[in-house]
Amino acid sequence: MVLTKVPCEICSLADLRIIHRHHIIPRVDSRCHNGINNLACLCPNCHSLVHAGEIVILGVYLSTSGRCLVWFKKDEDPPFQQQFWIVKENPLVVTITGDSDDLVDENCQ
Ligand SMILES: [Zn+2]
Ligand SMILES: [Zn+2]
Repeated sequence: MVLTKVPCEICSLADLRIIHRHHIIPRVDSRCHNGINNLACLCPNCHSLVHAGEIVILGVYLSTSGRCLVWFKKDEDPPFQQQFWIVKENPLVVTITGDSDDLVDENCQ
């Protein structure tokens, strides 16, 4: 299963030519993987805000109505209690499917 490029999952900007794939758990973390539940499609603007810490991505929630990226702005209340943020036991990532080498995050370390 491959995460095809979709409009920015934060602001919905729809220019797919400039959409980046971002690792939610960063590569420096040994838990990082290329499964679709660790990747988010972001426009360059939102991507830089995420890396700057202005936007916090909690994870991917797979509901019956489809995939939903769960995120919040630093200054706003998160949609979930902080106890659920721990990525190690992240309940938002309910399944991990696929591991494709071509899903590299070409835009970050
Ligand atoms: Zn965006
Ligand atoms: Zn990134």
